[in-house]
Amino acid sequence: MKFIACVKLTPDTEQLAEVRLEKVSTGDLGVTMVLNPWDEYAVEEVLQLAERYDGDTVAITVGNEDFVEALKRAVAMGVGEAVLLSDPAFAGSDAWGTADILAQAIKQQDGYALVLTGKQSVDGNSGVVGAGVACKLGIPYVSNVIKIEDVSGGYAVVRRMLDEGVQTVKVSLPAVVSVSIEINEPRYPNFMGIRKASRMQYPAQGVGDIPGLESGKVGVGAALVKWTDLRKPPKRGSQCEFIQGASAVEQATSLVDKLIADKVI
Ligand SMILES: Cc1cc2nc3c(=O)[nH]c(=O)nc-3n(C[C@H](O)[C@H](O)[C@H](O)COP(=O)(O)OP(=O)(O)OC[C@H]3O[C@@H](n4cnc5c(N)ncnc54)[C@H](O)[C@@H]3O)c2cc1C
Repeated sequence: MKFIACVKLTPDTEQLAEVRLEKVSTGDLGVTMVLNPWDEYAVEEVLQLAERYDGDTVAITVGNEDFVEALKRAVAMGVGEAVLLSDPAFAGSDAWGTADILAQAIKQQDGYALVLTGKQSVDGNSGVVGAGVACKLGIPYVSNVIKIEDVSGGYAVVRRMLDEGVQTVKVSLPAVVSVSIEINEPRYPNFMGIRKASRMQYPAQGVGDIPGLESGKVGVGAALVKWTDLRKPPKRGSQCEFIQGASAVEQATSLVDKLIADKVI
């Protein structure tokens, strides 16, 4: 059985307050980038599942070449295979495009049972990529999972946290599951893991390497809202006019006339 963790590179949250709005569309926020904290739980869970079921683990990411850092962290934690999906044609993909790239690449993985995502990213924060991947793969999606009880006989039994309480769900495999932070305690990479991660090769796979991926359906051209169109709001012009008058009554009368003329009152 194979267990796949989707991982994203995100800004170090301690530095997020420093990010300026106009830098968002550039992709270079000027802060340290790290493995999305929520995805550490997905990585830890695929490791634990692989230990329980003698399976294989894969970490997969869509992004520019810097996203290798997210893969390195996953490999350092113990993941066996790392897949970097990176191509200039992917730049500016929205959540649906990102999900499509992930899904088409996941289709190339034989025998995967569960695809795990974090609950959300700390930057984009939409929490929809996992659902999009499931939709594109045509397989079930379970969100907010706090425990994976069992994976056997073509099904997974999972517990998910709802506002009303905890719900137990039996879902057919393969499936996509987004995990919440209650699910485990992510391990710290050890020295051997860090060394393995630094020696591993991370060749980028692009549009031409992934069957079923159409360049027209990903990238900024296919995004419903294009971040490149984000601009600072135009500066508001303002004029200052001093109301004249010999007395306070004259000034007040003049002000009221002006406000009526300008249709303010
Ligand atoms: C330079 C740049 C330009 C962008 N331009 C646009 C744009 O023009 N229009 C637009 O709508 N959006 C744009 N985006 C946002 C981009 O679409 C989102 O970052 C992406 O869809 C993920 O959405 P999210 O961060 O809300 O993830 P969420 O849905 O919150 O993430 C949930 C989980 O999905 C997985 N996941 C999310 N993203 C990835 C990933 N990249 N690789 C692997 N797993 C992942 C992780 O497990 C994560 O925990 C841009 C992003 C960047 C960096």
